[in-house]
Amino acid sequence: MTARVLDGKAVAAGVRRRVAAEVAELAPRLGREPGLATVLVGDDPASEVYVRNKRQACEEAGMRPIHHDLPSDVPQGRLLALVDELNADTQVDGILVQLPLPDAIDQDAVVDRIAAAKDVDGLTAASAGLLAQGRPRLVPCTPAGVMELLREADATIEGAEAVIVGRSILVGRPLSALLLNANASVTVCHSRTRDLAGTCRRADLLVAAVGSPSLVKGDWVKPGAIVIDVGINRTGEGLVGDVEFEAAREVAAAITPVPGGVGPMTIAMLLANTVAAARARAG
Ligand code: NAP
Repeated sequence: MTARVLDGKAVAAGVRRRVAAEVAELAPRLGREPGLATVLVGDDPASEVYVRNKRQACEEAGMRPIHHDLPSDVPQGRLLALVDELNADTQVDGILVQLPLPDAIDQDAVVDRIAAAKDVDGLTAASAGLLAQGRPRLVPCTPAGVMELLREADATIEGAEAVIVGRSILVGRPLSALLLNANASVTVCHSRTRDLAGTCRRADLLVAAVGSPSLVKGDWVKPGAIVIDVGINRTGEGLVGDVEFEAAREVAAAITPVPGGVGPMTIAMLLANTVAAARARAG
């Protein structure tokens, strides 16, 4: 079997078109464009690029980007005060504080200060708790993108054996809740998992979110499985994922490439969360 390669760029473009249409319908009711506030602390070049791309995508979808740059030595109190202002600002529907924050700042305290209704990154303890209880509100963008890609692959999630490699707050943990809520039986693997290969071989749905180039071997993939590769690793041979792509595509039914798989979904789902937050705030 040669797997169908899932085109994340095309799926993301579809989500962005859907968001733009929703914005066009919602903006006249709101009497303004939905607003996404981004906060960048310091001058990390990668974070600058991520935030610039998010602001541009926001504008392309017809929403209003509202940006705040703060120096890397900003006192935590000033950053918390800015989050409070954005929480209270009626023009702001979503708030995104670009992570990671400088070491001197308590990242959890800043993220948890974001009002749940504006938490478009889905990373506050409140959003994570609701998701874990099976009543999700705003869901983290990358795992939400993985679920869209599974839909695109026509995956049967209900009753499926799902294995996720990686248990981060950003990807693995929220994805495990999303899959469980969709009635999969979920196993989450991590660096202490005893038989990683054997566990992966059981998976109907296999998701790798580790950050280790080609960790998941082709012969760990069950024939006919759907494989989603979240990993992004810069190597001498360019950008690669966490899955041995060529070997895995020989056995899987569908697989995402790196780049061009999960990557483009993250910003698309941020836009979807922002318009959803604006709609919910509008009642
Ligand atoms: P992370 O916070 O570093 O978490 C990595 C996870 O992998 C941890 O749970 C860790 O286990 C586990 N792990 C590490 N080595 C392992 C091994 N040898 N065997 C099994 N598990 C192992 O990373 P993350 O933020 O989730 O990101 C994961 C990857 O996804 C990265 O490449 C990142 O760049 C990429 N990513 C992509 C997007 C996108 O938009 N496409 C978004 C977010 C992240 P322990 O918990 O035991 O340490």
